[in-house]
Amino acid sequence: MNKEELLTEYEKTFGEKGQDVFFSPGRINVIGEHTDYNGGHVFPAAISLGVYGVYGPREDKKVCLFSGNVDGDIVEFDIDDTTVEKDDRFWANYFKGMITYLREKYDNINHGFNLYIKANLPSGSGLSSSAAIEMLMGIILKDEFNLDVDRISLAKMGQRTENEFVGLNSGIMDQFACIMGKKDSAIFLDCNTLKYEYMPLALGEYEIIIMATNKPHTLADSAYNDRVRECHDAVKKLQQKLDIKALGELDNDTFDEYSYLINDETELKRARHAVSENQRTLRATKAMKDGDLEKLGRLIDASHVSLHYDYEVTGKELDTLAEASWKQPGVLGARMIGGGFGGSAIAIVKKSEAENFKKHVGDIYRDKIGYDASFYDAEIVDGTKRI
Ligand code: ADP
Ligand code: MG
Repeated sequence: MNKEELLTEYEKTFGEKGQDVFFSPGRINVIGEHTDYNGGHVFPAAISLGVYGVYGPREDKKVCLFSGNVDGDIVEFDIDDTTVEKDDRFWANYFKGMITYLREKYDNINHGFNLYIKANLPSGSGLSSSAAIEMLMGIILKDEFNLDVDRISLAKMGQRTENEFVGLNSGIMDQFACIMGKKDSAIFLDCNTLKYEYMPLALGEYEIIIMATNKPHTLADSAYNDRVRECHDAVKKLQQKLDIKALGELDNDTFDEYSYLINDETELKRARHAVSENQRTLRATKAMKDGDLEKLGRLIDASHVSLHYDYEVTGKELDTLAEASWKQPGVLGARMIGGGFGGSAIAIVKKSEAENFKKHVGDIYRDKIGYDASFYDAEIVDGTKRI
């Protein structure tokens, strides 16, 4: 998608010329799944698939949103309106949350605007289209109204938008990855302290292939909130003997020693994943630094297995993609990414095997699931910005 096409679409939609064009990336996560809201570590990277936005100021106080990916009209609301949107206007909440929280802090956002958005990132695919649009709105308002707000604060507002406008009790990973992304690097982030380190994704003769399940209509949000609650309940039980705030503070041995306190099978499994996944993430980033890609791959596979058996968020589509990937030549590792149930998986594949890989995994998936998976080779890019 180029700038000219986007500006033309804006003009067709709003009947006047657009002013500025922005891009906000989606993200992958190499390892560290469902660890962010458990105070653990994650290892995501921003990708070249994302959401474009064309901005034009208005003299009145209306916000007019149009998405080139949604069948429907312009969604219009007053800039002071902070009510949660429903039904076919629901997607406006991702923008409305950001507008609301920024206006709480900055009273110079005093006029409305038109915004045309268009994504080349499939929505609801575990590649974080939602954080991409939140961070798009954040950077547009920061730039256009000269707000003295830092990127990490925008990420936090995005998380609050998911929690309070969308009703998903998610952590900070998605927003952090979209807005703090750096070309050719992954971000090793401690979600407890928000300390982070950029690490070059030095994969040598290997590349990351993204595989989208294309599974329609998942009920992932309520299951996600269940997992958050189950982990929280497990922490409360461990706190009888341990001075901790989150599962991410525990190593495997300490967790094992005190796990007798969690007298519920489901909570025990959820907590075991949160702890072991965080430890795997620490070891995986060390393996990456040491150049031990085979070890990185094994840890990625183990992540999927833990997400399957202990966290129970995979489902047959994601399992099919991971298991088919593991059988292919030249594959270091593969796992589901994102919330789970549907969405996407990644595989680290030898570049020379990539085409064979897509064909064979694609065939197995179609045979077993009945429709096609999509394969993407995305580049690792910088965070949300004006283009
Ligand atoms: P993910 O973040 O993994 O893509 P989510 O369920 O968190 O999945 O977010 C998907 C939702 O975000 C969609 O249901 C829609 O409301 C909104 N969304 C994403 N991309 C777009 C878009 N291009 N246009 C309008 N709404 C979008
Ligand atoms: Mg999302």
